[in-house]
Amino acid sequence: MSAALETLIARSLSTVEEKTWAPDREVTLGELRIVDMIHEGKPTCRLCGQIVNQTDQFGLCSKTTDAHKVARGVVVPARKAGRR
Ligand SMILES: [Zn+2]
Repeated sequence: MSAALETLIARSLSTVEEKTWAPDREVTLGELRIVDMIHEGKPTCRLCGQIVNQTDQFGLCSKTTDAHKVARGVVVPARKAGRR
């Protein structure tokens, strides 16, 4: 690395301002309002309430929990106690 380049890098590094992060309620609420706007009008899973771009043919989100499988009409085998 050339000395000139090293000098340039050292100079630019020293000008980078170190900011300490602090929570700001207004900023957070503003971001949450944006999220709400993005979610507005989107469907929710009829089982868990998850907001999704599109529900499947059963009105569900894409989760594959047993409850979601049952709601899709998939038979979930009961787990027998003491067996694997
Ligand atoms: Zn769901």
